[in-house]
Amino acid sequence: MHGVRARVVRLLRRAGYVARWRWARVEDGVRRVGPHVVPRWTYRAGPAAGLEAVDPWRMARRLMLCSAAWYAQARITSADALRVVAQPRPCGQVHVCPVCARRRSWTLATALRAAVEEDHAAGVVRGVALVTLTHRDEPGATLRAELARFRRAWDSLTRGRAGMAWRQAVTSWFIGLEVTRGAAGARGELGHGWHVHAHVIVGVQDSESAQWIGERWRAATLRASRALLGDDRGAWLPGAGGVWSETHADG
Ligand SMILES: [Zn+2]
Repeated sequence: MHGVRARVVRLLRRAGYVARWRWARVEDGVRRVGPHVVPRWTYRAGPAAGLEAVDPWRMARRLMLCSAAWYAQARITSADALRVVAQPRPCGQVHVCPVCARRRSWTLATALRAAVEEDHAAGVVRGVALVTLTHRDEPGATLRAELARFRRAWDSLTRGRAGMAWRQAVTSWFIGLEVTRGAAGARGELGHGWHVHAHVIVGVQDSESAQWIGERWRAATLRASRALLGDDRGAWLPGAGGVWSETHADG
């Protein structure tokens, strides 16, 4: 993880040069960070024009210092004694820091496991399944557009009239949205399109739900593709992977 972190620091430094020299930005107001008010910078050009500017150099600095400093945490032990424990101070940048990402993923997984076990014990769900929802990428589309199209499909699956049927079949769910940059992204390179997909944990009442969710998701991605791309090319293709990964049915 420290090797990965060193690589990310180098990438961010390079990104800082690119962002500074290629894309003009302008100070156009203030934003609130906790109790503080700081200037807000917006890109005037480039792929993120109109969006708030980030400073990759600042992110790189924070990343380098992740867990380098320590703080003292007071804990009450089971014997009612006060103990002071030294803890490393994390940078908290979960999308760029491998150490913080790992920590967050562990915390989230632990909380999810507890929630699923509780639902199971209370009889709220009978089976739990991991579902992967994908749609076909649109090469060259912006991340914002691809996210909007995915969210539209998800909303049309879970909200409105279709959503009533969804909530009857799927008693509870947790959606983890992921974005990779094309197939090349797996090799650490930049691909041609943003691949937005989601891993969803669903609590279901019967094993027929797999087929049912697949059909519904196909219809939802079709609607989103027609509305935002003008035709069917962005819909989920049933043979292209996705939807059912694994089920853990009860009994
Ligand atoms: Zn960190």
